[in-house]
Amino acid sequence: MSAKTNAKKEQAPCPYAKKCGGCQLMNMTYPEQLSWKTARCIRLLGRFCRVEEITGMQNPVHYRNKVQAAFQLTRSGKIVSGVYQSGTHNVVNVNSCLTEDKKADEITVYIRSLLPRFKILPYNEDSRAGFLRHVLVRRGFSTGEIMVVFVGANPRFPMKNRITDALVEKFPEITTVVFNINPHKTSMVLGERSEVLYGRGYIEDTLCGCTFRISPSSFYQINPVQTEILYNTAISFANLGKDSTVIDAYCGTGTIGIAAARHAGSVTGVELNGDAVKDAVFNAKRNKIENIAFVKADAGEFMLEAARQGEKADVVFMDPPRAGSDKKFLSSLVTLAPQTVVYISCNPETLARDLAFLTKNGYKVRKIQPVDMFPFTNHIECVTLLTRK
Ligand code: SAH
Repeated sequence: MSAKTNAKKEQAPCPYAKKCGGCQLMNMTYPEQLSWKTARCIRLLGRFCRVEEITGMQNPVHYRNKVQAAFQLTRSGKIVSGVYQSGTHNVVNVNSCLTEDKKADEITVYIRSLLPRFKILPYNEDSRAGFLRHVLVRRGFSTGEIMVVFVGANPRFPMKNRITDALVEKFPEITTVVFNINPHKTSMVLGERSEVLYGRGYIEDTLCGCTFRISPSSFYQINPVQTEILYNTAISFANLGKDSTVIDAYCGTGTIGIAAARHAGSVTGVELNGDAVKDAVFNAKRNKIENIAFVKADAGEFMLEAARQGEKADVVFMDPPRAGSDKKFLSSLVTLAPQTVVYISCNPETLARDLAFLTKNGYKVRKIQPVDMFPFTNHIECVTLLTRK
């Protein structure tokens, strides 16, 4: 084999890349991916402020602490499990994914091998026959606790206790097993109902010195190593003081606000999803943080009301979904006029749009720090510091 073909081989480190299509930057080396991401941020955001070089990972593989394997029966009657081929509902049979936690993949492959013995068939979305839709595995990066969730299409899970015993015997690191029932015709993985088969029904992880509960459906950043860097960057940009009044908007399970509360006077977290708010309240108690409260509301409505009431905030953290923020939120933010805004964004395009509004309305962008949360994919996370002009 020539040196040239060898080099090519090194550049495609994943045997599923062609079939799967999930990692858009698979044909680049990691340093090339980082340069590509920094360049993209400069192109989209450079007009607001100097963009720092992206903070990459030392070891950019197997970083996902949440793995959702879909199960399917092939035409020839073989059970496959793994990821959907990009843009389809065909499952690519994956034994080990470059981005996923290794142990989580071992567990799903083992479950695949157990199914015939327990006479369990994957669910078929068209005929609605069969049972097993997905297996979700979540791992606490620093605690090592592992949760396995079987997602079935109906409540009849044959031999659920025996399969749980077999699983826990093989992988003693598994601390909880949950059965979730999802009877709906939907691309959502989880249904509303769950039954705990083993353990506590949740796992815990620590981030920035705080402990967080992760339930089957909790939102929790999927790359714990980089999340810590992301949150620490956001908190250091905020330059908090013991008297600072802080709003953590789009707070999810309260992670940023809880980590920030120890450096601040008081924090209010705002989140639309009721389950996330419950987790946030629990997480605050779990960490004995008393200067934080959570409100279940649309972040824009909350800000509008706060502006109307003439309330004050020194620092606003905002971490909206990919679609970015909205006019209601941004214009109320301008009325509320906090000295400091720290915008955490997972989409530089909507970030650029929102920064254009804020910089026209009294704010100046001081720092932009991209952080690589999703190596091999084209996703980019940025922390931006704005202060009043
Ligand atoms: N800051 C958290 C979560 C970020 S994800 C973390 O780092 O883990 C974005 C969050 O915004 C989600 O939890 C989502 O439920 C919430 N969200 C989406 N639209 C919202 C809205 N209009 N008002 C308040 N929260 C919203």
